[in-house]
Amino acid sequence: MKKIIWEVQSLSLLPVLKYCKKCGRKNLFACSRQFRVNAQRRYLDIWLIYKCCACNTTWNATVYSRISPQAIKPQLLDGFYKNDNELVEKYAMDSQFLQENGVEVGLPQYSVIGDCFSLNETVQLEIKSKYSLSVKVSSVVRSKLLLSEKEYLQLIISGKIKSLPNQDLKKCKLKEGVTLVFDNELQMSRI
Ligand SMILES: [Zn+2]
Repeated sequence: MKKIIWEVQSLSLLPVLKYCKKCGRKNLFACSRQFRVNAQRRYLDIWLIYKCCACNTTWNATVYSRISPQAIKPQLLDGFYKNDNELVEKYAMDSQFLQENGVEVGLPQYSVIGDCFSLNETVQLEIKSKYSLSVKVSSVVRSKLLLSEKEYLQLIISGKIKSLPNQDLKKCKLKEGVTLVFDNELQMSRI
């Protein structure tokens, strides 16, 4: 069976929606890509800083609260001080982290890297993402293969597309990845 890998790459960090006191309404907040480390007595507070897209009011997403400096590896602490890009993305792409900080999290813009294929082929397709994304598998497949919602549903109903292990392909989210099988022979035998 032909094997194809797609990689879903985020083009932006996760958009954050929260109430801005200054604007008096809910607004989009953008990640500043900067941490703030505050040392108070024997404890550290570490935040990731966001800014309201309309008025620049800052909002701090709590990474660590009142943690002992000994509890953090020096290399990690250094990463927070240097605003290490990988470290910024680890938090800014983590919807659970953001939700635990009490904000609404939107979907990032993304592109799908990898070869297209014909629906006349039998293909095992692995879709991967570096970060857990709550985009729908159906959106990724439909946008890449240029399928209408009806065409995509037809593939599910006819058994031409399946996931390993079996998931609801109408609803399931990509998270860190999924493996799909486009089974051409099955469809041909039904026709
Ligand atoms: Zn604002």
